[in-house]
Amino acid sequence: MRTYIVGNWKMNFTIGESSIYLHKLLKKITPSRGLQIAVAPSLIALQPLSLQLDRKKIKLVAQNCCAKDFGAYTGETAVAQLRGLVDFCIVGHSERRYVFGETDKDIREKVAACIRNNITPILCIGETESERTFGETADVLRDQLASGLADVSKEDLAKVIIAYEPVWAISSVKGARVAVPDDVSCCIDLIRKHLKSTYGKEAEDIPVLYGGSVSPSNCGAYLTIPGVNGLLVGASSLILDQFNDIIETAKRVRS
Ligand code: PEP
Repeated sequence: MRTYIVGNWKMNFTIGESSIYLHKLLKKITPSRGLQIAVAPSLIALQPLSLQLDRKKIKLVAQNCCAKDFGAYTGETAVAQLRGLVDFCIVGHSERRYVFGETDKDIREKVAACIRNNITPILCIGETESERTFGETADVLRDQLASGLADVSKEDLAKVIIAYEPVWAISSVKGARVAVPDDVSCCIDLIRKHLKSTYGKEAEDIPVLYGGSVSPSNCGAYLTIPGVNGLLVGASSLILDQFNDIIETAKRVRS
């Protein structure tokens, strides 16, 4: 299976800064078989970057979308409008769930809308600090998976990517901690088991990424966890050399 290294730039970089970063990144990286590099700039940068991009080297990712295909939804961007611009769309990121109050239903509809429009959803799931403390991690992950994928048919499963991102390990969260690979490994196991019990053998082909304070120094350890097919990188993706180091480690680890 492919290895995915996805940089989530969140609400950082102007269009100009995004373009300069991408230019430098394109110059630095060499394509590697089996490695898929992708970046998620802010919405306004998607169109200009899509013109600048070498899609054989890097794919574009939307950070969010609206599940409706068109209509009176001021300020929203339909997945249908992202067609041709992006290959992937992050759905259910913890900042969308907990800062903007997105519900399981919103997330389920966005996943379905992505699939309907031929864009691969990167469905983010993960427990909060308090859910972890109260021993609810397994239930939360199962619930978020079941709900997020409720409208996905077995045939469409191959069009989905899952990202496990424990909320307490995301660098922008106050007091965030770095998850140890053993913690991550248990949760990846749980996710894989749930997918298999729900969908059967086909579920083995679903890529599962890890995200949460990934850096050049810890990325190798996460990438060697069985069942992990790549990384969703926030803060470290904003620093070109760090993102490139992560890409280089992925090449080494996966070769
Ligand atoms: C994220 O928010 O998706 C993320 C993984 O962020 P960070 O790497 O900064 O923890």
